Amino acid sequence: METTDKTQGELLAEKLLEKPKNAGLIMNDDEIASADEFCEGYKAFINTAKTEREACCESVKLAKEAGFDEYDSSKEYKPGDKFYFVNRDKSIILTVMGEEPLSEGIRLAAAHIDSPRLDLKQHPLYEDEELALFKTHYYGGIKKYQWTAIPMSLHGVIIKADGTKITINIGEDAGDPIFCVTDLLIHLANEQMKRTLANGVKGEELNLLVGSRPFKDDKVSKKVKLNIMRILNEKYGITEHDFVSAELEIVPAFKAQDLGFDRSMIGGYGQDDRVCAYPALMAILGCDKPKHTCMTILTDKEETGSDGNTGLNSSYLPYFIDDLAQMQGLKGHNVMSKSLCLSADVNAAIDPTFSDVTEARNASKLNYGVVVTKFTGSRGKSGTSDASAEFVGKIRKMMDEGEVIWQTGELGKVDAGGGGTVAQYIANLDMDVIDVGVPVLSMHAPFEVTSKLDTYMAFKAFSVFFKD
Ligand code: MN
Ligand code: MN
Repeated sequence: METTDKTQGELLAEKLLEKPKNAGLIMNDDEIASADEFCEGYKAFINTAKTEREACCESVKLAKEAGFDEYDSSKEYKPGDKFYFVNRDKSIILTVMGEEPLSEGIRLAAAHIDSPRLDLKQHPLYEDEELALFKTHYYGGIKKYQWTAIPMSLHGVIIKADGTKITINIGEDAGDPIFCVTDLLIHLANEQMKRTLANGVKGEELNLLVGSRPFKDDKVSKKVKLNIMRILNEKYGITEHDFVSAELEIVPAFKAQDLGFDRSMIGGYGQDDRVCAYPALMAILGCDKPKHTCMTILTDKEETGSDGNTGLNSSYLPYFIDDLAQMQGLKGHNVMSKSLCLSADVNAAIDPTFSDVTEARNASKLNYGVVVTKFTGSRGKSGTSDASAEFVGKIRKMMDEGEVIWQTGELGKVDAGGGGTVAQYIANLDMDVIDVGVPVLSMHAPFEVTSKLDTYMAFKAFSVFFKD
Protein backbone atom coordinates (compact mmCIF):
# COMPACT_ATOMS: atom_id res chain seq x y z
CA MET A 1 0.00 0.00 0.00
CA GLU A 2 1.21 3.44 -0.93
CA THR A 3 2.09 5.70 1.96
CA THR A 4 1.52 9.42 1.91
CA ASP A 5 2.20 12.25 4.31
CA LYS A 6 -0.75 14.20 2.98
CA THR A 7 -3.70 14.81 5.27
CA GLN A 8 -7.22 13.86 4.27
CA GLY A 9 -8.01 17.51 3.70
CA GLU A 10 -5.00 17.99 1.43
CA LEU A 11 -5.96 14.97 -0.63
CA LEU A 12 -9.55 16.14 -0.88
CA ALA A 13 -8.47 19.64 -1.91
CA GLU A 14 -6.23 18.14 -4.59
CA LYS A 15 -9.14 16.17 -5.95
CA LEU A 16 -11.89 18.76 -5.73
CA LEU A 17 -10.50 22.27 -5.96
CA GLU A 18 -9.23 24.25 -8.93
CA LYS A 19 -5.55 25.14 -8.93
CA PRO A 20 -4.79 27.61 -11.72
CA LYS A 21 -1.11 27.68 -12.66
CA ASN A 22 1.10 30.00 -14.67
CA ALA A 23 1.81 28.53 -18.14
CA GLY A 24 5.49 29.25 -17.49
CA LEU A 25 5.35 26.61 -14.74
CA ILE A 26 3.46 24.02 -16.79
CA MET A 27 5.14 24.21 -20.18
CA ASN A 28 8.45 22.40 -20.70
CA ASP A 29 11.47 24.27 -22.05
CA ASP A 30 10.99 22.95 -25.60
CA GLU A 31 7.43 24.18 -25.76
CA ILE A 32 8.41 27.56 -24.30
CA ALA A 33 11.06 27.81 -27.03
CA SER A 34 8.38 26.97 -29.64
CA ALA A 35 6.19 29.73 -28.24
CA ASP A 36 9.04 32.25 -28.40
CA GLU A 37 9.78 31.25 -31.98
CA PHE A 38 6.11 31.48 -32.96
CA CYS A 39 6.06 35.05 -31.65
CA GLU A 40 8.99 36.04 -33.89
CA GLY A 41 6.64 35.40 -36.81
CA TYR A 42 3.89 37.24 -35.00
CA LYS A 43 6.03 40.36 -34.47
CA ALA A 44 7.06 40.34 -38.13
CA PHE A 45 3.39 40.06 -39.14
CA ILE A 46 2.17 42.97 -37.03
CA ASN A 47 5.10 45.13 -38.08
CA THR A 48 4.20 44.56 -41.74
CA ALA A 49 0.42 44.58 -41.37
CA LYS A 50 -0.69 47.60 -39.35
CA THR A 51 -4.06 48.17 -41.02
CA GLU A 52 -6.89 45.91 -42.17
CA ARG A 53 -5.83 46.32 -45.81
CA GLU A 54 -2.22 45.47 -45.04
CA ALA A 55 -3.21 42.51 -42.85
CA CYS A 56 -5.47 41.23 -45.64
CA CYS A 57 -2.71 41.64 -48.22
CA GLU A 58 -0.09 39.95 -46.01
CA SER A 59 -2.50 37.08 -45.29
CA VAL A 60 -2.95 36.50 -49.04
CA LYS A 61 0.82 36.41 -49.44
CA LEU A 62 1.27 33.87 -46.62
CA ALA A 63 -1.70 31.83 -47.88
CA LYS A 64 -0.24 31.56 -51.38
CA GLU A 65 3.08 30.44 -49.90
CA ALA A 66 1.16 27.75 -47.96
CA GLY A 67 -0.47 26.44 -51.15
CA PHE A 68 -3.83 28.24 -51.01
CA ASP A 69 -5.44 29.36 -54.29
CA GLU A 70 -7.87 32.19 -54.86
CA TYR A 71 -11.49 31.05 -54.54
CA ASP A 72 -13.24 30.28 -57.82
CA SER A 73 -17.02 29.98 -57.48
CA SER A 74 -17.25 27.82 -60.63
CA LYS A 75 -14.93 25.17 -59.20
CA GLU A 76 -15.94 21.94 -57.44
CA TYR A 77 -13.75 21.67 -54.36
CA LYS A 78 -12.64 18.31 -53.00
CA PRO A 79 -11.52 17.32 -49.49
CA GLY A 80 -8.11 18.81 -48.71
CA ASP A 81 -8.48 21.73 -51.16
CA LYS A 82 -7.25 25.06 -49.79
CA PHE A 83 -8.45 28.45 -50.97
CA TYR A 84 -8.99 32.04 -49.89
CA PHE A 85 -11.65 34.63 -50.66
CA VAL A 86 -10.92 38.35 -50.32
CA ASN A 87 -13.70 40.83 -49.60
CA ARG A 88 -12.89 44.34 -50.90
CA ASP A 89 -9.20 44.10 -49.86
CA LYS A 90 -10.18 44.46 -46.19
CA SER A 91 -11.27 41.02 -45.06
CA ILE A 92 -10.39 37.47 -46.01
CA ILE A 93 -11.87 33.99 -45.60
CA LEU A 94 -9.43 31.06 -45.77
CA THR A 95 -10.90 27.59 -46.23
CA VAL A 96 -9.63 24.02 -46.14
CA MET A 97 -12.23 21.52 -47.35
CA GLY A 98 -12.93 18.64 -44.98
CA GLU A 99 -13.46 14.93 -45.55
CA GLU A 100 -17.00 15.22 -44.20
CA PRO A 101 -19.68 16.92 -46.33
CA LEU A 102 -20.56 20.51 -45.43
CA SER A 103 -23.85 19.23 -44.00
CA GLU A 104 -21.73 18.18 -40.98
CA GLY A 105 -20.87 21.84 -40.38
CA ILE A 106 -17.80 24.04 -40.53
CA ARG A 107 -15.13 24.78 -37.91
CA LEU A 108 -14.73 28.57 -38.07
CA ALA A 109 -12.18 30.83 -36.35
CA ALA A 110 -13.11 34.51 -36.61
CA ALA A 111 -10.74 37.35 -35.75
CA HIS A 112 -10.65 41.02 -36.74
CA ILE A 113 -7.83 42.91 -38.42
CA ASP A 114 -8.97 46.50 -37.89
CA SER A 115 -7.62 48.32 -34.83
CA PRO A 116 -8.26 51.69 -33.17
CA ARG A 117 -6.51 54.52 -35.02
CA LEU A 118 -6.97 58.01 -36.43
CA ASP A 119 -8.58 58.31 -39.89
CA LEU A 120 -8.10 61.37 -42.11
CA LYS A 121 -11.21 63.42 -42.81
CA GLN A 122 -12.22 63.99 -46.44
CA HIS A 123 -10.80 67.54 -46.44
CA PRO A 124 -7.84 66.96 -44.14
CA LEU A 125 -5.11 69.40 -45.14
CA TYR A 126 -4.98 72.94 -43.70
CA GLU A 127 -2.46 75.54 -42.62
CA ASP A 128 -2.56 77.39 -39.32
CA GLU A 129 0.22 79.56 -37.84
CA GLU A 130 2.41 78.55 -40.78
CA LEU A 131 2.17 74.87 -39.90
CA ALA A 132 0.49 72.25 -42.10
CA LEU A 133 -1.87 69.81 -40.39
CA PHE A 134 -4.35 67.02 -41.17
CA LYS A 135 -7.82 66.91 -39.60
CA THR A 136 -8.66 63.43 -38.28
CA HIS A 137 -11.61 61.45 -37.01
CA TYR A 138 -10.68 58.69 -34.59
CA TYR A 139 -11.72 55.12 -35.39
CA GLY A 140 -12.81 52.79 -32.60
CA GLY A 141 -12.78 53.38 -28.86
CA ILE A 142 -9.72 55.34 -27.74
CA LYS A 143 -8.54 57.38 -24.78
CA LYS A 144 -7.72 60.39 -26.95
CA TYR A 145 -4.94 61.79 -24.77
CA GLN A 146 -2.90 58.61 -25.42
CA TRP A 147 -2.58 59.42 -29.13
CA THR A 148 -0.64 62.68 -28.78
CA ALA A 149 3.13 63.23 -28.77
CA ILE A 150 4.03 59.82 -30.19
CA PRO A 151 5.49 59.02 -33.64
CA MET A 152 2.79 58.21 -36.20
CA SER A 153 2.78 56.75 -39.70
CA LEU A 154 0.31 57.14 -42.56
CA HIS A 155 -1.22 54.13 -44.36
CA GLY A 156 -3.99 53.64 -46.89
CA VAL A 157 -5.19 54.26 -50.39
CA ILE A 158 -6.11 57.23 -52.57
CA ILE A 159 -8.36 56.85 -55.60
CA LYS A 160 -7.49 59.63 -58.05
CA ALA A 161 -9.96 61.47 -60.28
CA ASP A 162 -9.17 59.11 -63.18
CA GLY A 163 -9.83 56.06 -60.97
CA THR A 164 -6.19 55.12 -60.41
CA LYS A 165 -5.49 53.64 -56.99
CA ILE A 166 -2.41 54.68 -55.05
CA THR A 167 -1.20 52.76 -52.01
CA ILE A 168 0.40 54.86 -49.27
CA ASN A 169 2.75 53.74 -46.50
CA ILE A 170 4.87 56.51 -44.97
CA GLY A 171 6.68 56.37 -41.65
CA GLU A 172 7.50 52.68 -41.34
CA ASP A 173 10.80 52.36 -43.20
CA ALA A 174 14.10 53.66 -41.84
CA GLY A 175 14.64 57.07 -43.39
CA ASP A 176 10.90 57.76 -43.79
CA PRO A 177 9.50 60.92 -42.21
CA ILE A 178 6.95 60.44 -39.43
CA PHE A 179 4.12 62.60 -38.09
CA CYS A 180 2.57 63.42 -34.72
CA VAL A 181 -0.35 64.98 -32.90
CA THR A 182 1.03 67.69 -30.63
CA ASP A 183 0.00 68.15 -27.01
CA LEU A 184 0.03 71.27 -24.88
CA LEU A 185 3.14 71.89 -22.79
CA ILE A 186 2.57 71.32 -19.07
CA HIS A 187 3.74 74.88 -18.30
CA LEU A 188 0.67 76.33 -19.99
CA ALA A 189 -1.77 73.52 -19.30
CA ASN A 190 -3.45 74.94 -16.17
CA GLU A 191 -6.86 75.06 -17.85
CA GLN A 192 -6.40 71.82 -19.80
CA MET A 193 -5.47 69.96 -16.62
CA LYS A 194 -8.85 70.86 -15.15
CA ARG A 195 -10.63 69.00 -17.95
CA THR A 196 -11.84 65.44 -17.29
CA LEU A 197 -9.58 62.69 -18.62
CA ALA A 198 -12.17 61.95 -21.34
CA ASN A 199 -11.83 65.53 -22.59
CA GLY A 200 -8.15 66.05 -21.79
CA VAL A 201 -7.60 66.05 -25.53
CA LYS A 202 -10.79 66.50 -27.56
CA GLY A 203 -11.63 64.79 -30.85
CA GLU A 204 -11.15 67.98 -32.87
CA GLU A 205 -7.76 68.51 -31.20
CA LEU A 206 -6.35 65.31 -32.71
CA ASN A 207 -4.70 67.22 -35.56
CA LEU A 208 -1.69 65.66 -37.23
CA LEU A 209 1.39 67.83 -37.82
CA VAL A 210 2.65 67.21 -41.37
CA GLY A 211 4.83 70.18 -42.41
CA SER A 212 6.26 73.61 -41.69
CA ARG A 213 8.38 74.89 -44.62
CA PRO A 214 6.79 77.50 -46.95
CA PHE A 215 6.76 77.49 -50.75
CA LYS A 216 8.77 80.57 -51.81
CA ASP A 217 6.31 82.82 -53.66
CA ASP A 218 4.98 86.10 -52.27
CA LYS A 219 1.94 85.99 -54.56
CA VAL A 220 0.37 82.98 -52.81
CA SER A 221 -1.06 82.62 -49.32
CA LYS A 222 -0.88 79.41 -47.22
CA LYS A 223 2.59 78.70 -48.50
CA VAL A 224 3.25 75.76 -46.15
CA LYS A 225 0.10 73.96 -47.23
CA LEU A 226 0.96 74.63 -50.87
CA ASN A 227 4.42 73.19 -50.36
CA ILE A 228 2.96 70.00 -48.84
CA MET A 229 0.59 69.64 -51.81
CA ARG A 230 3.55 70.20 -54.15
CA ILE A 231 5.45 67.33 -52.50
CA LEU A 232 2.41 65.03 -52.58
CA ASN A 233 1.74 65.92 -56.20
CA GLU A 234 5.34 65.21 -57.22
CA LYS A 235 5.38 61.87 -55.38
CA TYR A 236 1.84 60.58 -56.00
CA GLY A 237 0.40 62.79 -58.74
CA ILE A 238 -2.49 63.84 -56.49
CA THR A 239 -4.30 67.13 -55.96
CA GLU A 240 -6.05 68.31 -52.80
CA HIS A 241 -9.44 67.12 -54.10
CA ASP A 242 -8.17 63.52 -54.29
CA PHE A 243 -8.38 63.23 -50.48
CA VAL A 244 -12.14 63.06 -50.97
CA SER A 245 -11.82 59.53 -52.35
CA ALA A 246 -9.11 58.30 -49.99
CA GLU A 247 -8.93 56.09 -46.93
CA LEU A 248 -5.88 57.19 -45.00
CA GLU A 249 -5.18 55.82 -41.56
CA ILE A 250 -2.76 57.15 -38.96
CA VAL A 251 -1.21 54.53 -36.70
CA PRO A 252 1.75 54.46 -34.30
CA ALA A 253 5.03 54.38 -36.24
CA PHE A 254 6.94 52.22 -33.75
CA LYS A 255 7.60 48.50 -34.16
CA ALA A 256 6.46 45.64 -31.93
CA GLN A 257 9.23 44.52 -29.61
CA ASP A 258 9.98 42.06 -26.83
CA LEU A 259 8.94 43.52 -23.51
CA GLY A 260 10.54 42.81 -20.14
CA PHE A 261 14.03 41.70 -19.04
CA ASP A 262 12.84 38.13 -19.59
CA ARG A 263 11.43 38.95 -23.07
CA SER A 264 8.26 37.15 -22.00
CA MET A 265 5.88 39.74 -23.44
CA ILE A 266 5.32 41.69 -26.64
CA GLY A 267 4.61 45.41 -26.73
CA GLY A 268 3.19 46.88 -29.90
CA TYR A 269 0.34 48.57 -31.74
CA GLY A 270 -2.87 46.88 -32.84
CA GLN A 271 -2.52 43.61 -30.95
CA ASP A 272 -6.31 43.79 -30.52
CA ASP A 273 -6.94 41.79 -32.54
CA ARG A 274 -3.96 40.75 -34.62
CA VAL A 275 -2.72 38.75 -31.61
CA CYS A 276 -5.67 36.45 -32.36
CA ALA A 277 -5.74 37.00 -36.14
CA TYR A 278 -2.17 35.76 -36.59
CA PRO A 279 -2.64 32.52 -34.59
CA ALA A 280 -5.97 31.89 -36.39
CA LEU A 281 -4.22 32.49 -39.72
CA MET A 282 -1.29 30.24 -38.85
CA ALA A 283 -3.67 27.51 -37.67
CA ILE A 284 -5.59 27.46 -40.98
CA LEU A 285 -2.38 27.63 -43.02
CA GLY A 286 -1.15 24.56 -41.13
CA CYS A 287 -4.48 22.74 -41.45
CA ASP A 288 -4.19 19.62 -43.59
CA LYS A 289 -6.93 17.18 -44.66
CA PRO A 290 -9.30 18.05 -41.78
CA LYS A 291 -12.37 16.00 -40.92
CA HIS A 292 -14.70 19.00 -41.02
CA THR A 293 -14.26 21.91 -43.42
CA CYS A 294 -12.17 24.51 -41.58
CA MET A 295 -12.23 28.26 -42.04
CA THR A 296 -10.49 31.32 -40.68
CA ILE A 297 -12.14 34.66 -41.31
CA LEU A 298 -10.19 37.85 -40.70
CA THR A 299 -12.74 40.61 -40.73
CA ASP A 300 -12.86 44.40 -40.72
CA LYS A 301 -14.95 47.00 -38.86
CA GLU A 302 -15.16 45.17 -35.52
CA GLU A 303 -13.93 48.25 -33.66
CA THR A 304 -16.83 50.36 -34.95
CA GLY A 305 -19.54 47.76 -34.34
CA SER A 306 -19.09 45.35 -37.30
CA ASP A 307 -21.36 47.40 -39.60
CA GLY A 308 -20.38 47.97 -43.23
CA ASN A 309 -19.89 45.44 -46.01
CA THR A 310 -16.49 44.30 -44.73
CA GLY A 311 -17.74 43.79 -41.14
CA LEU A 312 -19.32 40.64 -39.75
CA ASN A 313 -22.71 42.28 -39.40
CA SER A 314 -22.89 42.14 -43.22
CA SER A 315 -23.84 39.07 -45.25
CA TYR A 316 -20.51 38.36 -46.87
CA LEU A 317 -19.81 35.35 -44.65
CA PRO A 318 -23.23 33.66 -45.01
CA TYR A 319 -23.18 34.38 -48.78
CA PHE A 320 -19.80 32.68 -49.06
CA ILE A 321 -20.94 29.68 -47.02
CA ASP A 322 -24.11 29.50 -49.09
CA ASP A 323 -22.05 29.32 -52.30
CA LEU A 324 -19.97 26.47 -50.88
CA ALA A 325 -23.12 24.71 -49.70
CA GLN A 326 -24.70 24.93 -53.16
CA MET A 327 -21.60 23.35 -54.63
CA GLN A 328 -22.51 20.26 -52.58
CA GLY A 329 -26.23 20.60 -53.31
CA LEU A 330 -26.98 21.95 -49.84
CA LYS A 331 -28.56 25.05 -48.37
CA GLY A 332 -26.30 27.53 -46.58
CA HIS A 333 -28.41 27.66 -43.47
CA ASN A 334 -28.17 23.88 -43.00
CA VAL A 335 -24.38 24.21 -43.02
CA MET A 336 -24.35 27.18 -40.63
CA SER A 337 -26.74 25.57 -38.14
CA LYS A 338 -24.32 22.67 -37.73
CA SER A 339 -21.19 24.85 -37.57
CA LEU A 340 -19.01 25.74 -34.60
CA CYS A 341 -17.07 28.97 -34.20
CA LEU A 342 -14.30 30.28 -32.02
CA SER A 343 -14.65 34.05 -32.01
CA ALA A 344 -11.00 34.94 -31.68
CA ASP A 345 -10.80 38.22 -29.83
CA VAL A 346 -8.76 39.57 -26.96
CA ASN A 347 -9.74 39.73 -23.31
CA ALA A 348 -8.83 42.32 -20.66
CA ALA A 349 -6.12 40.86 -18.42
CA ILE A 350 -5.84 41.90 -14.76
CA ASP A 351 -3.62 44.96 -14.52
CA PRO A 352 -2.10 45.09 -11.02
CA THR A 353 -2.13 48.90 -11.16
CA PHE A 354 -5.86 49.03 -11.98
CA SER A 355 -7.06 45.77 -10.47
CA ASP A 356 -10.20 47.32 -8.99
CA VAL A 357 -12.04 47.09 -12.36
CA THR A 358 -11.68 43.32 -12.50
CA GLU A 359 -13.03 40.61 -10.24
CA ALA A 360 -10.00 38.44 -9.53
CA ARG A 361 -11.80 35.08 -9.38
CA ASN A 362 -13.19 35.53 -12.89
CA ALA A 363 -10.72 37.79 -14.67
CA SER A 364 -8.02 36.56 -17.05
CA LYS A 365 -4.33 36.86 -16.24
CA LEU A 366 -1.27 37.23 -18.40
CA ASN A 367 0.53 33.87 -18.85
CA TYR A 368 -2.42 31.75 -17.75
CA GLY A 369 -3.14 30.67 -21.32
CA VAL A 370 -5.72 31.44 -23.96
CA VAL A 371 -8.93 32.93 -22.52
CA VAL A 372 -12.34 31.33 -23.00
CA THR A 373 -14.97 34.03 -22.50
CA LYS A 374 -18.50 32.68 -22.19
CA PHE A 375 -20.11 36.09 -22.50
CA THR A 376 -19.14 39.72 -23.05
CA GLY A 377 -21.56 42.67 -23.22
CA SER A 378 -22.48 45.09 -20.46
CA ARG A 379 -25.20 45.94 -17.96
CA GLY A 380 -26.85 42.58 -17.37
CA LYS A 381 -25.21 40.75 -20.31
CA SER A 382 -26.81 42.94 -22.97
CA GLY A 383 -25.14 42.74 -26.39
CA THR A 384 -23.69 39.25 -26.02
CA SER A 385 -24.40 35.82 -27.44
CA ASP A 386 -23.54 34.02 -24.15
CA ALA A 387 -22.36 30.53 -25.14
CA SER A 388 -24.36 27.57 -23.80
CA ALA A 389 -23.03 25.30 -21.07
CA GLU A 390 -23.10 22.48 -23.63
CA PHE A 391 -20.85 24.36 -26.03
CA VAL A 392 -18.49 25.52 -23.26
CA GLY A 393 -18.33 21.88 -22.21
CA LYS A 394 -17.39 20.77 -25.71
CA ILE A 395 -14.68 23.41 -26.07
CA ARG A 396 -13.35 22.70 -22.58
CA LYS A 397 -12.99 19.00 -23.38
CA MET A 398 -11.35 19.78 -26.71
CA MET A 399 -8.81 22.11 -25.08
CA ASP A 400 -7.97 19.69 -22.29
CA GLU A 401 -7.53 16.76 -24.67
CA GLY A 402 -5.38 18.91 -26.94
CA GLU A 403 -3.22 20.02 -23.97
CA VAL A 404 -4.05 23.66 -24.51
CA ILE A 405 -3.42 25.83 -21.45
CA TRP A 406 -6.54 27.93 -21.06
CA GLN A 407 -8.37 30.05 -18.53
CA THR A 408 -11.72 31.77 -18.37
CA GLY A 409 -12.26 35.51 -18.40
CA GLU A 410 -14.85 38.25 -18.46
CA LEU A 411 -14.66 41.82 -19.69
CA GLY A 412 -14.24 43.51 -16.32
CA LYS A 413 -16.32 43.22 -13.20
CA VAL A 414 -20.09 43.64 -13.29
CA ASP A 415 -21.09 47.19 -14.29
CA ALA A 416 -17.49 48.42 -14.62
CA GLY A 417 -18.09 49.04 -18.34
CA GLY A 418 -18.01 46.26 -20.90
CA GLY A 419 -17.75 45.61 -24.61
CA GLY A 420 -18.56 43.12 -27.33
CA THR A 421 -17.04 41.01 -30.07
CA VAL A 422 -18.18 39.52 -33.38
CA ALA A 423 -19.51 36.45 -31.50
CA GLN A 424 -23.04 37.85 -31.37
CA TYR A 425 -23.22 38.34 -35.17
CA ILE A 426 -21.98 34.78 -35.76
CA ALA A 427 -24.46 33.44 -33.20
CA ASN A 428 -27.19 35.24 -35.16
CA LEU A 429 -26.30 32.97 -38.12
CA ASP A 430 -27.35 30.05 -35.87
CA MET A 431 -23.84 28.81 -35.19
CA ASP A 432 -22.50 27.75 -31.79
CA VAL A 433 -19.89 30.34 -30.89
CA ILE A 434 -17.67 31.31 -27.98
CA ASP A 435 -14.92 33.89 -27.53
CA VAL A 436 -11.43 32.42 -27.34
CA GLY A 437 -8.50 34.83 -27.36
CA VAL A 438 -5.41 36.30 -25.82
CA PRO A 439 -5.37 38.44 -22.63
CA VAL A 440 -4.08 41.99 -23.20
CA LEU A 441 -2.87 44.87 -21.04
CA SER A 442 -3.50 48.50 -22.10
CA MET A 443 -6.11 47.36 -24.64
CA HIS A 444 -6.84 50.02 -27.34
CA ALA A 445 -3.81 52.09 -26.32
CA PRO A 446 -1.29 52.86 -29.09
CA PHE A 447 1.00 50.35 -27.36
CA GLU A 448 -0.65 47.15 -26.12
CA VAL A 449 0.94 44.29 -24.16
CA THR A 450 0.49 40.53 -24.56
CA SER A 451 2.33 37.42 -23.34
CA LYS A 452 4.16 35.11 -25.73
CA LEU A 453 2.94 31.95 -24.01
CA ASP A 454 -0.71 33.03 -24.24
CA THR A 455 -0.28 33.93 -27.92
CA TYR A 456 1.15 30.49 -28.63
CA MET A 457 -1.69 28.86 -26.70
CA ALA A 458 -4.17 30.69 -28.96
CA PHE A 459 -2.45 29.12 -31.97
CA LYS A 460 -2.63 25.73 -30.27
CA ALA A 461 -6.32 26.23 -29.44
CA PHE A 462 -7.28 27.04 -33.06
CA SER A 463 -5.13 24.16 -34.35
CA VAL A 464 -6.83 21.69 -31.99
CA PHE A 465 -10.25 23.08 -32.99
CA PHE A 466 -9.45 22.47 -36.67
CA LYS A 467 -8.66 18.83 -35.84
CA ASP A 468 -12.15 18.28 -34.34
MN1 MN B 1 -11.04 43.03 -30.51
MN1 MN C 1 -11.09 46.21 -29.61
